[in-house]
Amino acid sequence: MRTILISMVGVCFALMNCMVLAQEGLSTYSHQVGSFELILLAESQGQGNKGILIGATPEMLQEYAPNGTFSNAMNAFFVKTPDKNMLIDAGLGRKLVENLQSLNVAPEQVDIILITHMHGDHIGGLLRDGKVMFPQAEIYLPQPEYDYWMSDEKFKQQQEVIAAYKNKLHLFKPNELNKQSTPLLPGFTAYAAYGHTPGHTAFLLESDNEKMFVWGDVTHAMALQMPYPQVAVTYDVNPDDAIAARKQVLEYVNKHNIPIAGMHIAFPAMGTISKGKAGGYLFTPFTK
Ligand SMILES: [Zn+2]
Repeated sequence: MRTILISMVGVCFALMNCMVLAQEGLSTYSHQVGSFELILLAESQGQGNKGILIGATPEMLQEYAPNGTFSNAMNAFFVKTPDKNMLIDAGLGRKLVENLQSLNVAPEQVDIILITHMHGDHIGGLLRDGKVMFPQAEIYLPQPEYDYWMSDEKFKQQQEVIAAYKNKLHLFKPNELNKQSTPLLPGFTAYAAYGHTPGHTAFLLESDNEKMFVWGDVTHAMALQMPYPQVAVTYDVNPDDAIAARKQVLEYVNKHNIPIAGMHIAFPAMGTISKGKAGGYLFTPFTK
């Protein structure tokens, strides 16, 4: 047995990607927030390319993405409250239903879906073959997000989703960070983090004095955007606003010591934020 173990370790070192291979099978990860259970539903894991970065200097890349790539992922989240089954975003729809089934949740048992923004990797799982995937779910969508995607007929996927769920749609105005706020639902408060898209929104979960900030697409390249929040990505509709929002959110969660979860953070996609050097931050993932 000992020999087998040692030889496996040897193979892992030889391959260098044994850990990555081992993690590919893991799609869910659970974390308790008071009486809420927050569960990662990983859609895919992989590497992002430096070509999506705006404002990354050769020195930054040399230090944090020496191969020209960085860890990346696409995630949705499931929240089990004492009386509701909720989703925060719906991913691409690649493994969403399969991941939910592994938790013994059928699509028709999802009661509420909160949407951070309407990019395809966040709403792709809402429809399958043009049909509603979650027939019982009430959909909560930020008003400025709705306004943007309805403003031009070229946004076909977004308008198809809106039409399919039109009788279940609840539009809301997100709060501003550091101002008086009103919860969207008990234990869930929406905060504007505009820039990545015009209505991009984060959700603060609070239960029994525990908190978690599910920040959507505040980052796409943790390796670069934690030490250098001023680095933007080509997916940002307004990169300058996205940078300002990222800095504001990082300052807020650091100051209040609130753990975060993100849609493009590698497994387990949750962890804590602390101050790094020269205006940057450090992310410490939860233990896998
Ligand atoms: Zn995204």
